[in-house]
Amino acid sequence: QKIKQGLLKTRDNLTSKIDNIVGFGRKINEELLEELEEILILADVGVNTTSAIIEGIRQKVKERKVSDASMLKELLAEEVYEILQKDVEPFALTSPMVILVVGVNGVGKTTTIGKLANLYKKEGKKVMLVAGDTFRAAAIDQLEIWAERVNCPIIKHQEGSDPASVIFDGIQAAKARGIDVLICDTAGRLHNKKNLMEELRKIRKVIDREYPEAKVETLLVLDATTGQNAIQQAKIFKEVSNITGIVLTKLDGTAKGGIIVAIKAELGIPIRYIGIGEEIEDLQVFDAKSFVSAIFE
Ligand code: GDP
Repeated sequence: QKIKQGLLKTRDNLTSKIDNIVGFGRKINEELLEELEEILILADVGVNTTSAIIEGIRQKVKERKVSDASMLKELLAEEVYEILQKDVEPFALTSPMVILVVGVNGVGKTTTIGKLANLYKKEGKKVMLVAGDTFRAAAIDQLEIWAERVNCPIIKHQEGSDPASVIFDGIQAAKARGIDVLICDTAGRLHNKKNLMEELRKIRKVIDREYPEAKVETLLVLDATTGQNAIQQAKIFKEVSNITGIVLTKLDGTAKGGIIVAIKAELGIPIRYIGIGEEIEDLQVFDAKSFVSAIFE
C-alpha cells in the first residue's frame, strides 16, 4: 500500500532495530526493555511517551505471562495503537464546514490545503479556498496555483490586508454558492505570539458570528522532519487557539516517524491527516490501525 511506502524510512528504522534485539531466544526482561527504550527515543517518540510505552509493555508481560522476546513487536504495536486511538472521535466531514489551517511557514501548509481540497472534491464536496495568509504575497500566489490545479474557487485580497476581512468575504461567497467546505489559510508567524493569538481570535470571531451553522475545525500542520521542534510549535499553537486536529507532513522524508506518537501522547490532539509525498494524492486520512500495521507488520 501507499502508506507503507510513505512510512518506509520509519518502518526500516524501527523494525530492523527491534528485529535485531529480539533474536537469539531472548526473553523480555529489563535489559531488553532498556534497549527498546533507546530505539524509541532515537525514533523521536520522546522520553515521557517512551517511558509510558515501556511501562505498558511491562504490565502486559505480567498480565499475560508472556516472556518470549518474539512478542515484543506485537506488544509495542498494541501500546502505540492505544495511544493513537485514545479519546479520538472520527473526523466527520459535514456541510457546511470551515477548516482553518494553521502552522508556521515551510511546514507544508499550502500543499496540504491543495491536497485537502482535492480529497474533498473527490468525495463530491463543493470546496472553496480562502487566502487568509495576507502577510506574504507568495502565499497568496501559491494558494492560487493550487486552486487552479484542483479546480476550485478561491477568495483573496491584496497582500497586507486584514485576514479576518478576507475570511469574511470567503464566508459570504461560500454561503452564496452553497459551498460545503471552506478551507482557510492563515499566516504562520510564530515569533509574535500575541499577534498570532489576536489574529486567530479575530478570524474565529468572524466565523462564529457570520457562519454559526458551519462546523469549524482548526488543523495544525506540523513537519515530521523537524522532530521535537514540531512538538514545541504545537504547544504554542495550542496556547493561542483551539486546535482540533493535526496534519503531520513529510513523513516520507524521515526515519523518525515516532514523533506522531509523541505528538498525540503529549498534546492529546488527534492526528487527522498525514503527508507522505509532494504529489497531490500524497495525503492520507490518518488511521491508527493502518499506521501501526504499516510500521510493525
Ligand atoms: P508552507 O510554507 O507551509 O505553505 O509550505 P509548502 O506547502 O509550500 O511546502 C513546502 C515544501 O514542502 C514544498 O516543497 C512541498 O512540496 C513540500 N511538502 C509538503 N508536504 C510534503 C510531504 O508530505 N512530503 C514531502 N516529501 N514534501 C512535502
